[in-house]
Amino acid sequence: MRRMLVVALLALATRPAAAAQADAWWGHVTALADDSMRGRETGSPQHRKAAEYVAAAFQRAGLEPAGPDGWFQPVRFKVRRIAEPRSSVALVRGGRPEALGFGRDATINLRSSRAGKVDAPIVFIGYGVRSPEHGHDDLAGLDLEGKVAVLLSGAAPAGIPGPALAAGRAAGGEAIERGGAVGVIAVASPHADIPWERYAPSRLHPQMRLASDTSRHAGGTTVTVVLNPAVAERLFAGSPHTYASIQSLADSGAPLPHFELPVRLRATVAVDESQAVSDNVVGLLRGRDSLLRNEYVALTAHLDHLGVGQPVAGDSTFNGAMDNASGIATLIETAATLGGRSPRPRRSVLFVAVTGEEKGLLGSDYFAGHPIMPATGVLVADLNTDMFLPINPLRRLLVNGLEESDLADDVRRAAARAGIEVITDPEPERNAFVRSDQFSFIRRGIPALSLKVGFALGSPEHERVLRWRQERYHGVEDEVTQPVDRKAAEDFNRVYPEVVTEVANRPTRPAWYPTSAFRPEAGGTR
Ligand SMILES: [Zn+2]
Repeated sequence: MRRMLVVALLALATRPAAAAQADAWWGHVTALADDSMRGRETGSPQHRKAAEYVAAAFQRAGLEPAGPDGWFQPVRFKVRRIAEPRSSVALVRGGRPEALGFGRDATINLRSSRAGKVDAPIVFIGYGVRSPEHGHDDLAGLDLEGKVAVLLSGAAPAGIPGPALAAGRAAGGEAIERGGAVGVIAVASPHADIPWERYAPSRLHPQMRLASDTSRHAGGTTVTVVLNPAVAERLFAGSPHTYASIQSLADSGAPLPHFELPVRLRATVAVDESQAVSDNVVGLLRGRDSLLRNEYVALTAHLDHLGVGQPVAGDSTFNGAMDNASGIATLIETAATLGGRSPRPRRSVLFVAVTGEEKGLLGSDYFAGHPIMPATGVLVADLNTDMFLPINPLRRLLVNGLEESDLADDVRRAAARAGIEVITDPEPERNAFVRSDQFSFIRRGIPALSLKVGFALGSPEHERVLRWRQERYHGVEDEVTQPVDRKAAEDFNRVYPEVVTEVANRPTRPAWYPTSAFRPEAGGTR
């Protein structure tokens, strides 16, 4: 009773402060998602302007600049763009080429394509997943030398859990390459988060790699074509199966047949190359404990987004209000909360606004490989927030990685104090744990979590999330005019610093659970 009264009084006393913080949070979102920021494209002057905004906010919060260049850690990139006027894709049937139109029928995925020419027979290989430990291997016994492999992307065989599926796709991709395939045709899923009409224009965005990336290939097989599912029947015409029958098998996760298709792929890929530099912004809150301060907790959120593209209904700016101005705003407000609080956390906390996330988690990859700490320092955890989606009330905190490490205990303690339930990802098949910046830490053996506003499967809240993905995700519609649940954002900004504090103050170093497939001893995921 008495405790309840105290809690109620505390709630009253902190309510105006929390509301003021929510206003400050929204102020950062509107500043960073403003049209003048031109979508914060990695390497653009506007991204630098956004980075300076974050640096100034870190300074006001009382952080120390912790980059090699003041607040900044410059990251160098190699940039590639598809030169479509000099490129072409066609299906060749009986010697007669049927051209595929860029954007309408197909796109070239530059991330896994080298420049060059291909004219080769085509084999359908199902899901393209190699996971023998789960009784599934689409690559077993296939001869792909000099051929083009066709697979259904975004479809998965039933019965393989999320992390194993991600590993199985990667293993399948490697096997395709090692098997000597000269190309891949990935048939896009008719059920994809982003419908084809919104996905297709993204092919014109520049593709980037770290300049320091010396991995052997400049992008896998010679050509990776992504095919619009609406024209996929053209690929299967004259074969023993229709695309419709194959896709309906895939919808139930059934095993898929493998067979040669009676067409060839003829493609030319031309690429324009250049270079860019873009900054991570790094601020430090030095820990108070003389021993634990050498252990660093990284808080990451990506500042970059997709820049500008072809106009959609007169709008060409990818403002990225939720993706991820919202997460950066939370990073700033968390800095303000923890920077202004006494005592400080026991461990040191690095606030990192990373660049290049939309290009493949590149800024976080560079930071995790060059974490700019004293020689005695060690990075012990990463907490990431990317598009936490305050479009529903924060009754549940969705945690990616809850089953993987004992960081779960910290987040549960903090959430319990705030009266918020903690849930695991209700859509594990989306593999969210490996799809944002936390993965750059995970694959180096560092325990990590990513936090979002949660929802129950099939609930009206889930419906709202699904609609948001269809209508706004990676679209010009992700802007500040969209409906946002300001109370949910306020609650998230209140609980997030508490999670950070729990992690920074815990007595033991964060550890993977022995059962985790991500634990370094288990071989990791790459
Ligand atoms: Zn994104």
